[in-house]
Amino acid sequence: MNRVRLLVFNAALGALDYRVPAGMAIEFGSVVVAPLGPRQIVGIAWEAERLPAQDVPESKLRPILEVLPTPPLPAPLRRLIEWTAEYYCAPISSVARMALGSSAALRGGGTMTEYRLTGAEAERMTPQRVKACEALQGEQATIRELAAIAEVSEGVLRGMVSAGLLEPVTVDIDRPYPRALPDFAVPELTAAQQQAADAFVAAAESGGFAPFLLDGVTGSGKTECYFEAIAAAIAGGRQVLVLLPEIALTENFLRRFEHRFGAPPVLWHSSLKATERRRAWRAIVAGPQNGGAQVVVGARSALFLPYAALGLIVVDEAHEVSFKQDDGVRYNARDVAVIRARFEQIPVILASATPALESMHLADTGVYRRIDLPARFGGATLPEISIVDLRAEQPERGRWLAPRLVAEMRERLAKGEQSLLFLNRRGYAPLTLCRHCGYRFQCPNCTAWLVEHRFSRKLACHHCGHEVPAPEECPECGTKDCLVACGPGVERIADEVAELMPEARVALVTSDTLNTPERIADFVAAAEQGLVDVIVGTQLVTKGYHFPELTLVGVVDADLGLEGGDLRAGERTYQQIAQVAGRAGRAAKPGEVLIQTRHPEAAVIAALAAGDRDAFYDAETQARRDAGAPPFGRWAAIIVSSEDEAEARDAARAIGGSRPSHPDVAILGPAPAPMSLLRGRYRYRLLINARRSAELQKIIGEWLGTLRFPQGVRVGVDIDPYSFV
Ligand code: ADP
Ligand code: ZN
Repeated sequence: MNRVRLLVFNAALGALDYRVPAGMAIEFGSVVVAPLGPRQIVGIAWEAERLPAQDVPESKLRPILEVLPTPPLPAPLRRLIEWTAEYYCAPISSVARMALGSSAALRGGGTMTEYRLTGAEAERMTPQRVKACEALQGEQATIRELAAIAEVSEGVLRGMVSAGLLEPVTVDIDRPYPRALPDFAVPELTAAQQQAADAFVAAAESGGFAPFLLDGVTGSGKTECYFEAIAAAIAGGRQVLVLLPEIALTENFLRRFEHRFGAPPVLWHSSLKATERRRAWRAIVAGPQNGGAQVVVGARSALFLPYAALGLIVVDEAHEVSFKQDDGVRYNARDVAVIRARFEQIPVILASATPALESMHLADTGVYRRIDLPARFGGATLPEISIVDLRAEQPERGRWLAPRLVAEMRERLAKGEQSLLFLNRRGYAPLTLCRHCGYRFQCPNCTAWLVEHRFSRKLACHHCGHEVPAPEECPECGTKDCLVACGPGVERIADEVAELMPEARVALVTSDTLNTPERIADFVAAAEQGLVDVIVGTQLVTKGYHFPELTLVGVVDADLGLEGGDLRAGERTYQQIAQVAGRAGRAAKPGEVLIQTRHPEAAVIAALAAGDRDAFYDAETQARRDAGAPPFGRWAAIIVSSEDEAEARDAARAIGGSRPSHPDVAILGPAPAPMSLLRGRYRYRLLINARRSAELQKIIGEWLGTLRFPQGVRVGVDIDPYSFV
């Protein structure tokens, strides 16, 4: 090669051509440094015919400066990047950036310096130093990371290094990871589990694209089954990627993994420290030999990494909406995982007790191979579900729990068993208003009420993070002690439990309280050891956990998710309630679930109460078919935003005004988005509903491609949207 096209990380530049100096070895996928004006940029060598660029004569080409010491991105990954960019109407540079998770790691291994407390006392202990010493117990990280943990400036920490309070530690980036052993602790599987495992193992051993839907009730041992596939893959010298929807789930997973394989997997998520990130990335590209990464457990961002020898992908809790990314590249990791498996020619397992309707449909039509686990492990039975009709069984005034639910909780407490209350609402109360003048606290940046948080004594916006201290008087009329909290959040429910059952030990589980892996681990340990009587939580408690003494689940407000009524409201409500119900009675003692609702007749609620999953999926499928909604038709959204309201509106109108007319495509809007103001930006939406046969991406590309907008306007395309706000 003496001329090469580079994919560079700037959407406006597109692709650029360079000259390859004599003697420099470049392959497609090589990561290189090239000059751009006075600067240097990083780029990936790409097949020119797949990446359009301006034609530059040979004589004008500038030379590549350097090939970085990292293996070239393999061809299947390059095809995946192209596919993702095209399917999701995203700049290819934004997708490619996700593959190069750590730019420092591209420069090779070597060492990094971290710091930790020495335990020494300094003569001069400023309040800042005292604060840092308390916060940094047991921590070791870069100065910048420690500053963030301790909430002090980097200058304070550098001063502490000079004073001997902190010491440097040299960390070897390429130190090997412990080996996971396929035969470390092989479980005895039930007959049904064995059948499932055999199918996975055969697929992992033979290779080739093989998509599975592992459809097993909560507590059936889905993890045990796909662990056998992992064992087969690593025994064959291949790598495995396990995608989990939430970092909150990883603690539990890590323990089970280590128990099965004798060593922890390699973690990948957004809150990794810089050194961990660099080490993990290098281990992933190095491959499974010599202490490189064998099994990677990660959030959706792990999907695009350049695995050296990927042999299997598992997507656990595959129905989870958090696999859909709603900013930047708006992709769905569940779907892209299947595409990656196809390009890599490997098996992929989607595991869930409540699969997405789309996944069900693909299994029904034979695209995915369905593997059923219809029974719980160890003879445990599925819980008994019943309805509490709040219109007939009213909670006391100012309370939210119906007498029957309270009575059941008291009974559990007396027997030493655990109860779990689920309400998908963080904070104390979703709305605060002035009794005197009716003033409501609203976020200045978003179309949203401020949510009261009693623990942190703040009113907070859950969309942009705006916070104000909890006020004592109304900012409008100045009256003191006139503010009322309207409606419940989990903090308020926890208070109610504490008042009703003062002797009960209550654990509050929300992203506000369980915001680090350590806190999650502490909660899980406490719940397992029976140190908790009542768990009150948001969607964070609906999944993954296995507490043998938990025998009662109360759904505080089943109607909450059905409000707003977007495309997937019914499905999401079904999944959430079925998952949280699945926490009850997972061991020897049977479980019971009470669902509080004002709409017992709603199809979702009725199906849950009857334990009739098929009825729910059938009704939902029919409704989607009638509406031309996925998987029968396709949706896409165009979201237009600007800090200037008129600018946003004009841009949205310009898009609406140039809409293509196409027999297979219906276009709705533009209309102000339900969140018409979000993080200080005014928003408009258009919704596109297309037949499956329509070339949706091409139509959108041609439509938007001809339009020009002012600088401050952002136009985003969301293919297969999950969020309609
Ligand atoms: P799911 O993910 O399907 O809800 P899990 O994989 O969490 O179910 O399994 C539920 C519980 O049963 C876990 O504690 C798991 O360790 C246990 N279990 C499942 N299958 C087996 C088995 N074959 N041998 C021992 N324990 C098992
Ligand atoms: Zn806000």
